[in-house]
Amino acid sequence: MKILIAEDDSVSRRMLTALLSRSGYEVVAVEDGVKAWEILQAEDAPRLALLDWMMPGMDGVDVCRQARKQVGRPYAYLILLTAKGGKVDVIEGLESGADDYLTKPYDAQELKARMRVGLRILELEDNLVAARDAMHFKATHDPLTGLWNRGAVLDFLQRELSRARREKSALGILLCDLDDFKCINDTRGHEAGDEVLREVARHFKGAVRPYDAVGRYGGEEFLILLPGCELPTTRQRAEELRAAIAAQPVQTAQGNIPVTLSMGVLVSRDWPRMDADALLRTADDALYRAKAAGRNCVELARPSGNHPIEVGAPVDNRVSAKAGKR
Ligand code: GH3
Ligand code: MG
Ligand code: MG
Ligand code: MG
Repeated sequence: MKILIAEDDSVSRRMLTALLSRSGYEVVAVEDGVKAWEILQAEDAPRLALLDWMMPGMDGVDVCRQARKQVGRPYAYLILLTAKGGKVDVIEGLESGADDYLTKPYDAQELKARMRVGLRILELEDNLVAARDAMHFKATHDPLTGLWNRGAVLDFLQRELSRARREKSALGILLCDLDDFKCINDTRGHEAGDEVLREVARHFKGAVRPYDAVGRYGGEEFLILLPGCELPTTRQRAEELRAAIAAQPVQTAQGNIPVTLSMGVLVSRDWPRMDADALLRTADDALYRAKAAGRNCVELARPSGNHPIEVGAPVDNRVSAKAGKR
């Protein structure tokens, strides 16, 4: 465990360092508050600090005040170790954000006991943060595939749609559905079906950029969101994903299983008046047409009344060759 000591008096600093090192702590010792504050802000900063009050530059109380203004960082347990022993001082020290207050000359056993109190509190905090993170992960991820779950990917859609409209950029939306998946379950078993879902998910996750989102939208349906992608890129990415899945059968314990998928694709900028639900319905219409066209293909959403292209205008939306139903 790394401990920060900030003490301007060199003799006290060395004695404290020796005491804590002997007790098995890794000690970082500095001679003023400015350095202490720098260290507390660093990556992998010590979580427990012993701060002298009176130091040149920034004093111990200032360090406490600054540390408590920080948000989104792991909690640091701060102990003021000072010659100022009046009731008013103790109150001021604790009010500044210190967790504990010890007066010099200190008793070594008492100091170590108080440090152990701090370590217990830090451990408690770490456990709570870990539990909160695990709960958040569970609430936002699909357990089978590890992808974002439906709720989380829809949140991403809402957020990115607002941003795209604000920044006048585009958001590519790909609604994918595995072809004849029921048949895979029926002939190879549900376990093999699960393996296929995991493998397709793994491929999608590996194929998109870090700021794209891939979510499990339903049983064998996936929603892929590509911020900043205009129609030509979105269409190309969709086609690449489709072709990659079709190119190689998934290896499962039940043998190799050929898999194809169909997609309905659109770009938000082409549908400026539609909300997220309406966009998804439009993508779903395109997906339905991809299925009707023979599966293993990508269909672009058709223009509607609020789109510059007239309804019924001749369109060749299908971008891939049909591979036919297996
Ligand atoms: P289509 O090409 O028209 O999409 O046909 P399909 O068979 O893929 O579609 P359908 O909706 O008839 O069947 C989807 C199947 O997906 C039915 C359901 O049991 C299966 N499924 C849904 N969730 C899971 C899952 O978590 N694991 C497995 N193994 N199967 C699932
Ligand atoms: Mg001092
Ligand atoms: Mg389906
Ligand atoms: Mg399907």
